[in-house]
Amino acid sequence: MSRLGIIDTHAHLDDGRFDADRAAVMERLARDMEAVITQGTTYESSVASVKMAEQYDFVYAAVGWHPEDLAGIKSESYIAELEALAKEHKKVVAIGEIGLDYYWKENEPKDVQLLRLKQQCDLAYSLDLPVVIHDREAHGDCLRFFQNEVPKDLKVVFHCYSGSLEMAKELWKRGYYLGFGGTSTYKNNKKVREVLAACPEELFLLETDCPYLAPEPFRGRRNDPAMTEFVAQNAALVRGTDFAHIAEQTTKNARTLFGRIK
Ligand SMILES: [Zn+2]
Repeated sequence: MSRLGIIDTHAHLDDGRFDADRAAVMERLARDMEAVITQGTTYESSVASVKMAEQYDFVYAAVGWHPEDLAGIKSESYIAELEALAKEHKKVVAIGEIGLDYYWKENEPKDVQLLRLKQQCDLAYSLDLPVVIHDREAHGDCLRFFQNEVPKDLKVVFHCYSGSLEMAKELWKRGYYLGFGGTSTYKNNKKVREVLAACPEELFLLETDCPYLAPEPFRGRRNDPAMTEFVAQNAALVRGTDFAHIAEQTTKNARTLFGRIK
C-alpha cells in the first residue's frame, strides 16, 4: 500500500504550475498515493492526461471539455475524438471535467453549456463510464438537468461540492457521489462541512482540484494530490471518526465508482 492509502479523485497534473518540477512531484506521489485521477479540460489536456496515465502506474485519466473552455470546440466531431481516447486507453476512468459554470461572464451561453453537458453525459453513458461534474453558480440548472435529462443509472460525482444540503440530499437519493477537497477545510465554509458531516459513507470521495484550492494550513500555496491527507484529516474531525477509516472508505468508494482503477 502507498504511504497515505488514499485516492485523489480530482487533480490537474497537466497544469503549467507543475512544469518546473513535475518529475520530482510524480516520484513522491508514486509512494504517497493509491491513485490520482487527472482531469481533462480540453482535447489537448485530455490527451496530456492520458499520456500521464500511460507513463505512471498510479495515474488514471478523465477526458472531457470543461465548461470554461467550451469556446475551443470547433467541430461536432469533438465527441468522436473523446470517444476514441476513452476506447483506446484502458486507464480512462471517466468523462470529465464537464458541467456548468455561470460564474465567468465570458463563458459560453447557458444553452450551449447545457448542450455540451448533455452530449458528454450521453457519451459517458454509452461507454459505461461515470461523469465528473463541475457546478459553479449553476446549482438549479444542474439539479434540473440531472433530474430530467440523463438516464437514472448514469454514474455521477459532483466534484468540489458547493451546493446546499437540500440539493445534496436530492443527489444522494439518485446514488450520486460528492467530492470534497480543500474548500471543506476553510474556516468560513460551514455550509460544505454541514454536507460533509451528513454525506452517506458510501457516497463520499476525497479530492484536491490541484494545483488550485490547497487545504488549510496550506491555503494559497500550490496544491498537490498528497494534500488530500489534510482534507481527510479534516473530514475525520467533521465526521467524528479517524483518518484510517476515512482513507479506507473513500478509497473503496473511488474504486467502486471508477471501476477501471486497479
Ligand atoms: Zn477541476
